[in-house]
Amino acid sequence: MLRCEIIAVGTELLMGQTINTNARDIARELLSLGVGVYYQTVVGDNRERLEEVVRRAMDRVDLIILSGGLGPTNDDLTRETVAQLLGIPLEKNVEWEKRLFEFFSRFKRPFAENNLRQAMVPEGALMLPNDRGTAPGIILERGKHTFVLLPGPPREMLPMLRDQVIPLLKKKLETSGKLSVLQSRVLHVIGLGESTLVEMIQDMLERQDNPTIAPLAKGTEVHLRLTAHGHFPGEAESLLTRKAEEIKAILGDYVYGEDADTLELAVGRQLIAAEKSLALAESCSGGLLTHRLTNIPGSSEYLLSGLVTYSNKAKIGLLGIDPAIIADKGAVSAEVAAGMAAGVRRACGADLGLGITGIAGPGGGTPQKPVGLTYISLEAENFYLTRQYRFWGCREEIKDRASQAALYLLRLYLLGKLKPGQEE
Ligand code: AMP
Ligand code: MG
Repeated sequence: MLRCEIIAVGTELLMGQTINTNARDIARELLSLGVGVYYQTVVGDNRERLEEVVRRAMDRVDLIILSGGLGPTNDDLTRETVAQLLGIPLEKNVEWEKRLFEFFSRFKRPFAENNLRQAMVPEGALMLPNDRGTAPGIILERGKHTFVLLPGPPREMLPMLRDQVIPLLKKKLETSGKLSVLQSRVLHVIGLGESTLVEMIQDMLERQDNPTIAPLAKGTEVHLRLTAHGHFPGEAESLLTRKAEEIKAILGDYVYGEDADTLELAVGRQLIAAEKSLALAESCSGGLLTHRLTNIPGSSEYLLSGLVTYSNKAKIGLLGIDPAIIADKGAVSAEVAAGMAAGVRRACGADLGLGITGIAGPGGGTPQKPVGLTYISLEAENFYLTRQYRFWGCREEIKDRASQAALYLLRLYLLGKLKPGQEE
């Protein structure tokens, strides 16, 4: 596999003033060629340090892609530094010089002499035209190394990369019989902590080769990223499918989806398959669960309504909850959650009713009922369940966790994995 290092040049990147989106975009584009990005480096606009970084890259990779530092000012050093390090003189590209003059006269801008630096290209290098700016890109071959120099502004860099660099690299790899593809697939796991999950697939993680497997914690989910290296897309694809099936055979229903799937999408599919309708009564989650479900096209097939019954008045008036229960147990209680689920199910004639009530904080907590305490209740024909949760985090995180827990509860119910009752 061709090994690559991406070097982003610019002091503004080191200082955190600009996000290094170029490295991300370059890395993504290289996947289709099966090029392995082994390192990403960021270095400031400083000749010695840039030289040091390029030197080290030459020791450890074959393809070195640099972005930034191709402009006209004194702190734009990439072109000169690379040429000097390789001992290649810069020569004037007359065509590009003409283009620069035309560019400045067309836009009636004064022409500063240092703009001409952008027409200087290392001898024997390939110049990549730039329709959107004044600095051309450069490709330079030297021994086993290929250098690609790209302008820093993303709107110039990305089209040049996609339209010129990737096709050229592709042709080069094809000619040498090294063209391959790197493809990833992400399995989404819910209901297992990262460490338990790792234990369950320990053998596979230890034996991993192609595809590689990497667990990533994502909020209340764990994502497993599989990356396959194949000689052509179909090969990578089938390696991924085989490994994904192996993993699913071990993890079973803990895997709810792949890639762009979300938990709400998975639950929506379950509701359609089971031909069940759903009505929601939300308090502390403020409609977030309804929002997530209605993000799914076609959710009207199963979602009948989502009420945000935030006040006691709304819980009493709209859901028919007995005021005495609220007075006795409090608005955040198992009884009120159950009343919300039952009330909204009855009001909408839904198969499933779900209620969420909790304390999102930061105020309003007591020792008996701390911030994060939440009850979620689910009612169906001949079934009810109320579960108590203790979420942590800020208001938004608690809302998010409540909506996630509710979706997971629905998933388990539809999988036939819940026992009715009240859980503490
Ligand atoms: P330069 O080619 O170094 O003159 O870069 C010009 C502008 O491009 C900078 O001011 C940044 O806003 C942007 N830029 C440079 N490098 C990057 C990068 N790695 N990622 C995103 N933006 C960048
Ligand atoms: Mg710069």
